[in-house]
Amino acid sequence: SGKTPLTLIGLGPMGRAMVHRFLDAGHRVTVWNRTASRADDVVARGATRAATAAEAVEANRLVLLSLTDYEAMYAVLDGADLAGRVVVNLSSDTPEKTLKAAAWLAERGAELLVGGVMVPAPLVGDPSAYVFYSGPEEVFDRHRDVLAVIGRPDHLGQDHTLAQLFYQAQLDVFLTSLAGMLHAIALVGSAGVSAERFAPYLGDLLSSLNLYVEETARHVDAGEHPGDQANVTMMGATADHIVGATEAAGLDAALPRAVQSLYRRAVEAGHGRDSWTALVNVIRGR
Ligand code: NDP
Repeated sequence: SGKTPLTLIGLGPMGRAMVHRFLDAGHRVTVWNRTASRADDVVARGATRAATAAEAVEANRLVLLSLTDYEAMYAVLDGADLAGRVVVNLSSDTPEKTLKAAAWLAERGAELLVGGVMVPAPLVGDPSAYVFYSGPEEVFDRHRDVLAVIGRPDHLGQDHTLAQLFYQAQLDVFLTSLAGMLHAIALVGSAGVSAERFAPYLGDLLSSLNLYVEETARHVDAGEHPGDQANVTMMGATADHIVGATEAAGLDAALPRAVQSLYRRAVEAGHGRDSWTALVNVIRGR
């Protein structure tokens, strides 16, 4: 077929889900995984198993990586002929590690596209799926159609670190929210309330967060935090009460204390009557 053949290395749940979508779309896919047995199901579906990582890399010009982190990339690519290849690294890591990888690949004649997949493995290729990319625009443009197989590709810019930053910013909200959710369940649980009984209220609260996004963005971009609705002093008092209730219940208070600390410092900096969005100044260290 006229579909771009590609190599995919790293067959955890995410890598395997991607291989399935590429095979569904009619691409020829060469795979390799450190633990060889993890390739069995995709090979049974028609992917080609390479004997070594170097052989997998050399099979195609387009090489996708779905690994734990960027350190793993060196273990996989070291010794392979990388000249003229495009490496799309869909593994999460820090901006610093990402820049180092771009330079390492450039020295070997390869180009890096950085990717951050924004859905869990079962939703790869779903209409709701999107993937952040950063790196050279023309390299992205050349591979846009292939990459669209796993999710809507969003190119954020030339700077390699952008996709990592967007990915981590999203996960920042996600991980903090999940931890908050579990803390809240433990808090009502201290009174013998089951998580299931509390769940509808939790769902309602989480949906309502969406309503704050636009106003937050407006305040932060304008650098103005009019406190006519929920101000820092009021929200900070509630933050104190959450810490108090947590301690009374004998639960771990690290998470609510971190939030309480932001409010306290915002009050100390004179933001008491401003909107809670003024916390961004404390976060920015201003
Ligand atoms: P796994 O931890 O299941 O898979 C990691 C892969 O990296 C495995 O194939 C593993 O090989 C390989 N690997 C790790 N270290 C090395 C090494 N030193 N040498 C060779 N291979 C190595 O992760 P996932 O599949 O869940 O995720 C992969 C990436 O996708 C991660 O960066 C993750 O952040 C991202 N992601 C995952 C999501 C998900 O729902 N799972 C959602 C969004 C993003 P081996 O099998 O031999 O251990």
